[in-house]
Amino acid sequence: MLIVMKPDATQSEIDRVLEIIGKLGYRGHAMPGETRTAIGITGNKGSVDPAHFENLPGVADAIRVTKPYKLISKDLRPEKSAIKVGNAYIGDGSLAMIAGPCAVESADQVFKVAEVVAASGARFFRGGAFKPRTSPYAFQGKGEDGLKILAEVRDRFGLNIVTEAMDEHGVDLVEKYGDCIQIGARNMQNFSLLKYAGQTRKPILLKRGLSATLDEFLLAAEYIMSEGNYDVILCERGIRTFADHARNTLDISIVPAIRRVSHLPVIIDPSHASGHNYMVEPLAKAGVAVGADGLIIEVHPCPEEALCDGAQALTPDQYRSLSDMIKVLQSALNASESDSTTFNTKELTA
Ligand code: PEP
Ligand code: MN
Repeated sequence: MLIVMKPDATQSEIDRVLEIIGKLGYRGHAMPGETRTAIGITGNKGSVDPAHFENLPGVADAIRVTKPYKLISKDLRPEKSAIKVGNAYIGDGSLAMIAGPCAVESADQVFKVAEVVAASGARFFRGGAFKPRTSPYAFQGKGEDGLKILAEVRDRFGLNIVTEAMDEHGVDLVEKYGDCIQIGARNMQNFSLLKYAGQTRKPILLKRGLSATLDEFLLAAEYIMSEGNYDVILCERGIRTFADHARNTLDISIVPAIRRVSHLPVIIDPSHASGHNYMVEPLAKAGVAVGADGLIIEVHPCPEEALCDGAQALTPDQYRSLSDMIKVLQSALNASESDSTTFNTKELTA
């Protein structure tokens, strides 16, 4: 059930609807939009009778939801959501650049990259302190010491920190030191972790699982939102297919597919999608061209010495040149969009 409030509905009318939802034993999720507030209902087993709401003051409509998801849906919020991460936004119409090493290895390594990332104008820094590695013998990350280094990056360079949590303890620590909690591809369907992350107030960067369908991806976001955290950013990072020329297959079609049904921002990770340094730039350009809200890119001061994912890391010089190129591409796309009258690009960008 979705309750659409009238454009001039007052806060007390919204509160009254939420109160009734609570009394019925369900949970209400008020989602303010540009023109009206809509309220999603979760926690109901069967359908909810619209009669409870139809005649309440301020209510424009009570609509039955037939789709498997509610809160991620454009039915609830037709406009795209801009998510605040630290002191900057993802999904506000600008292109968010999130860059940094795969793993935090040392303060020196991280600061070298942060300097370049900040100088390029990016607002977000990535780096893992908890690493989900295929082998238990591979470098697992520096844990809390790594998070402390990332917190120092924020203080020194003014970058907002995006970093992965692999379990509940990690969520607590990232909440303390970081600005955005990344949930990695391997944990996309770790439902207890998703619920736990939904109870924090930090934004979540949710990466698509290696074999997740669109609905599975969106329902994973729905898990987080159903707990009351609406600040979710989706990330396409490549899926597993028969193709073996790249580490994964970048599925850029998921961007317009998400746009069609969801208000959540979506970014592209060309580093994990490709696994190869030489593919990162072309895939990053494809991500921008398809209308992604941002890019997350791995950079290492000396990729051949990286403890993790060196083959896909850009050098600082390569990152600088990629960032310049992306700015040119983005402004060309913005210009062509405002000129375009013949071709419906709205669905890609709205
Ligand atoms: C990462 O971003 O460091 C990472 C491990 O990504 P993914 O979960 O997409 O593999
Ligand atoms: Mn990596």
